[in-house]
Amino acid sequence: MNLPIVYNPGYVAPLPEGHRFPMSKFRQLYELLLADGVAHPEQFHSPERPPQEWLELVHTPEYVQAYCEGTLDAKAQRRIGLPWSSALVNRTCTAVGGTILTAQLALSHGLACNTAGGTHHAFPGYGSGFCIFNDLAIAARVLQKLDLVHKVLIVDLDVHQGDGTAFIFQNDPSVFTFSMHCEVNFPGTKQQSDLDVPLPVGMEDDAYLQTLAKYLPDLLSNVLPDLVLYDAGVDPHACDRLGKLALTDTGIFRREMQVLSTCVSSGYPVACVIGGGYADDLKSLVWRHSLLHRAASEVYRHYRL
Ligand SMILES: [Zn+2]
Repeated sequence: MNLPIVYNPGYVAPLPEGHRFPMSKFRQLYELLLADGVAHPEQFHSPERPPQEWLELVHTPEYVQAYCEGTLDAKAQRRIGLPWSSALVNRTCTAVGGTILTAQLALSHGLACNTAGGTHHAFPGYGSGFCIFNDLAIAARVLQKLDLVHKVLIVDLDVHQGDGTAFIFQNDPSVFTFSMHCEVNFPGTKQQSDLDVPLPVGMEDDAYLQTLAKYLPDLLSNVLPDLVLYDAGVDPHACDRLGKLALTDTGIFRREMQVLSTCVSSGYPVACVIGGGYADDLKSLVWRHSLLHRAASEVYRHYRL
């Protein structure tokens, strides 16, 4: 057996030409993993659209309905930052289904990776910052509802605070939210995660990895999660258009090895999503995202999952 990876061609929906969201990265990531032999076709699992009730475990029925039918007002639509289309609705729901499937595969195999996901700025009643529905929160709630897990730890290393996720679980002790992010970045108003670690602008590889090592092992042994959901955003990279930290490709790869081996070596299953990453040079960006799957494949083989 090899690392299970989740992908669906529906992860890519057309956007207007020149839109700043790098939509095609999801398909390019899938193609790169195959071209480089990181993954073989039989490792890929294809998700389905989740039933609307599952989205409503996190989001208000009014918001889910208005978004899916394209009747959100202009202000709510602008806050999301992606122009509405029925293809985008399908894309959004399929990607949420992908994170749910990734979480299920992580439970049965010990480790699994999505090739999308990490929409952590979505709140119960509105979307924000390219995030429409909160896949991490929905996956946690769905698996709890199916009685597959009780306690979930969300490790959010995207450069932006996981504000939507923090808000959703602020009064829910069954889901622990950990966010390590650049302190002066979007969102302007931060929410309170169970553990926030704000980082100064310009932090480099070694300081970043040492900070992570200071928190992650204790977090695991204190929370004792049945599942870890890992948002592996690559926007802490020095070349990212929206991040303000200074990690290198090597630093990102070391980070993924550190997170995955720390969790897996202690027996905690990990479901990974790719999170944010913004660069004009799409090839470099896709490479950066693929470091997660490269690290996960190594960890998967090393621990013979
Ligand atoms: Zn981000």
